[in-house]
Amino acid sequence: MQETQRQALQATDPEIAALIADEERRQRDSIRLIASENYASAAVMAATGSVLTNKYSEGYPGRRYYEGQRYIDKIEELAINRATALFGADHANVQPYSGSPANLAVYLAFCQPGDTIMGMSLPAGGHLTHGWGVSITGKYFRAVQYGVRRDTGLIDYDEVRDLARKERPKLLFAGGTAIPRIIDFQAFADIARDVDAVFVADIAHISGLVAAGVHPSPVPVADVVTSTTHKTLRGPRGGMILCKEGHKSAINRAVFPGLQGGPHDHQTAALAVALAEASRDSFKDYAAQIVKNSRALAQAMIERGFELVTGGSDNHLILCDLTNKGVPGKVLSRALDQAGIVLNYNSVPFDPRKPFDPSGVRLGTGAVTSRGMREAEMKQIAEWIDQVSQKPDDEDRITRIAGQVKELCEAHPAPGILVS
Ligand SMILES: *Cc1c(COP(=O)(O)O)cnc(C)c1O
Repeated sequence: MQETQRQALQATDPEIAALIADEERRQRDSIRLIASENYASAAVMAATGSVLTNKYSEGYPGRRYYEGQRYIDKIEELAINRATALFGADHANVQPYSGSPANLAVYLAFCQPGDTIMGMSLPAGGHLTHGWGVSITGKYFRAVQYGVRRDTGLIDYDEVRDLARKERPKLLFAGGTAIPRIIDFQAFADIARDVDAVFVADIAHISGLVAAGVHPSPVPVADVVTSTTHKTLRGPRGGMILCKEGHKSAINRAVFPGLQGGPHDHQTAALAVALAEASRDSFKDYAAQIVKNSRALAQAMIERGFELVTGGSDNHLILCDLTNKGVPGKVLSRALDQAGIVLNYNSVPFDPRKPFDPSGVRLGTGAVTSRGMREAEMKQIAEWIDQVSQKPDDEDRITRIAGQVKELCEAHPAPGILVS
């Protein structure tokens, strides 16, 4: 946080000021391997913390319901134009408050309550909003779910096709939260065309990789592409929707007035900044290094006897099944957090354990790559994970590793963090 902002916050609310400073130090001093997290740049955070939070601008550039939009319209147009240019899309809606509302807007644009929709099941690696039962998308629509193959952990496109032909969904979702491999968007597009479904690619996790060309883009073959803006894309918290020209008005109407009120203009501006950053050569290098780091971390874990779902990683994400190590995901993730290595426990496909106490952990290399860590550091991190997994209740060992983690973090300053 900037010094002047810190002083203002300290004067008004020392309690929150202290907690934010603590969190800033935690992010600075830990190895953050949560696959959905990153470090937004100081420039992105400056836009997020700006006076744009004071503005109301329901509508779209040139067609607003409030006055005083001279600068807001330009900001939103910049964000839209940068998004369409970066991803090669016909149209971009940059107003969704986050990834879940972006997906909800897609349902509203194309479906009626009770319609059949199809997505990957949550335990197989899908997202709540792709029709999982506890989500509004599983309650208000008739959701059918595909999974992965038991033997490979990979999506079985023949199974997806058979299910789609039998169930005739209106929407077919591709994408998820725990998919460590390249997604064959063309195969999904062919299936969707075969059954007259709208094909929605949700690239929330991988949009930074797609923008940089290190993961194939769904934009040419999908009707609609949704994404968060804060995962590998490294922007502010937020969501966006890319679509074909023919779907533009349905998508825009669904976001506003269908689902949301005023857009968060500070988020829009911060997204425009992030999209400018993501169009630079340095971001392409960054995204390529994310994948190299994920492969290196996966390899180093395999060498230490860890079993990875699908046997490795092609993107930023690793899903590790700890069953053979005899330590549940929750026990390892808690112990690693004590050591300054932060990740999340995660179900693995066909997990015999409960979602709140599952067999696996999920790792991602987006944030550590933002700190400039490379293959050598990934090896070191795998070594620490291995040591903690062998004795998750050995406090001396954890304390020793925590000190080493802090040293590694000091050698790799985190973008956007200025705390002293
Ligand atoms: C993170 C994620 C979302 C939801 O994003 P929120 O910003 O948390 O609402 C949607 N879909 C996928 C695939 C995700 O990974």
